[in-house]
Amino acid sequence: MVKKALITGGAGFIGSHLAARLLDEGYEVTVLDNLFTGTKSNIYGMLENPRFTFMLHDVTQPFWGQFDEIYNLACPASPIHYQRNPVETIRTSFMGVMNVLELALKTKARVLHTSTSEIYGDPAVHPQPETYWGNVNTIGIRSCYDEGKRAAETLCADYYREYGVDIRMVRIFNTYGPHMHPQDGRVITNFIMQALGNRDITLYGDGSQTRSFQYVDDLINAIRAYMQLDHEKVSAFFESKGIPVPVLNIGNPGEYTIKQLAEETLRQIPESTSKLVCEPLPKDDPKRRKPDITLATELLGWKPVVPLQEGLKKTIAYFK
Ligand code: NAD
Ligand code: UDP
Repeated sequence: MVKKALITGGAGFIGSHLAARLLDEGYEVTVLDNLFTGTKSNIYGMLENPRFTFMLHDVTQPFWGQFDEIYNLACPASPIHYQRNPVETIRTSFMGVMNVLELALKTKARVLHTSTSEIYGDPAVHPQPETYWGNVNTIGIRSCYDEGKRAAETLCADYYREYGVDIRMVRIFNTYGPHMHPQDGRVITNFIMQALGNRDITLYGDGSQTRSFQYVDDLINAIRAYMQLDHEKVSAFFESKGIPVPVLNIGNPGEYTIKQLAEETLRQIPESTSKLVCEPLPKDDPKRRKPDITLATELLGWKPVVPLQEGLKKTIAYFK
C-alpha cells in the first residue's frame, strides 16, 4: 500500500527537500503551505507528479485528510521573517501544531514535529543535550519564535502523554543548503549572496559568536530514520533515558565562529572582492550553539556526514 504523507510548510527550504525524498521513496505527498516564506519554485519539479498534491492553506486554520505520517514544518524560521509579524509567528507555531495534533489524534497518523535549537535560548550549558531546559527571554524580539516553539513542544508532550499520539520531535540546529530563500537573512545565505555580489560581508558583533551548521541532506536522513522506527521502540528508548517524550537534537556538532564562516565563504568564492565589516549584534543573539547528538546517534545509528566546506560548495553552486 502506498503511504501518504502530509508536510506542512513543504514549499519551504527543508520541506521541499523532504517532499522530494518522500516522493523518491514512493509516498503520496501532500504539501500544505501558505507561501509566506516558501515558494512554488521549490516544488515546481513535483507539481506534475501524480503522487504530489499542493494545498494552499494556512496551518492556523483547521484542515482534514487521512495520512499515515504528518511532518509539521510550517513556521517562518529566519529571524528577519519571524520578527516581521511576531504575533503571526507565535500563532503559527502554536495553532499550527494544535491543528496537526488534532488531526493526528482523529486519524491515528504518526507525527514529526520540527522544533529548534532556539528553545535552548542563549544556552548556559554547552554543548546542549536534550535534557537541558534552556535560557530564554520571554519578552524579547526572538521570543515569538523561541517561546512559540517551546509551547509547541509542550503541546506535543501532552498529546503524547494524555492521548497517546505517536509523536516524535526534532530540535533542529542551524541547517543550510539549496532552496534557502536568497533574501531570507540567515547567515549562510547573507554571506554567499554578499560575496557573489561583491558587497560587504556583514558580521554582526565581532563575529565571535558560534553556530554549528548542518547540511540539509544530513537532516533529512535523520528525520526519515526516526520516522521509520516503531512507536514501542521509540517510547522504550526515551523512557530508558529518563526523557518523558521523544525529542532528539539533530545537527552537526562542528562548531564555527561566524567570522570563520565568513572567511570560509570567501575562500570558496576567490573571485569575490567583498570585505568583512562589523555591524551591531541583534538583541538576544545566542553566543554559542552546538548540539550534543549522543541520543540521535544511539537511537538512529545516524551521524552527519557532510562537512561545512563540502556543503558550502553545493550551496554556493545553487546560489550561482
Ligand atoms: P522556511 O521559511 O523555508 O519554511 C517554512 C515554510 O512554512 C514556508 O514554506 C512557509 O511559507 C510555510 N509557512 C509559514 N507560515 C505558515 C502558515 N501559517 N501556514 C502554512 N505554511 C506556513 O524555513 P525552513 O528553514 O525550511 O524551516 C522549516 C521548519 O524547520 C520550521 O518549522 C523551522 O522552525 C524549523 N527549523 C529550521 C531550522 C533551519 O536552520 N533551517 C532550524 C531549526 C528549526
Ligand atoms: N549573522 C551575521 N551576519 C548576517 C546574518 C547573521 O553575523 O548577515 C549572525 C547572527 O547574528 C547570528 C548567526 O550569524 O549570531 C546566525 O544567524 P542566523 O540568523 O542564521 O540564525 P540564528 O541566529 O537563528 O542561529
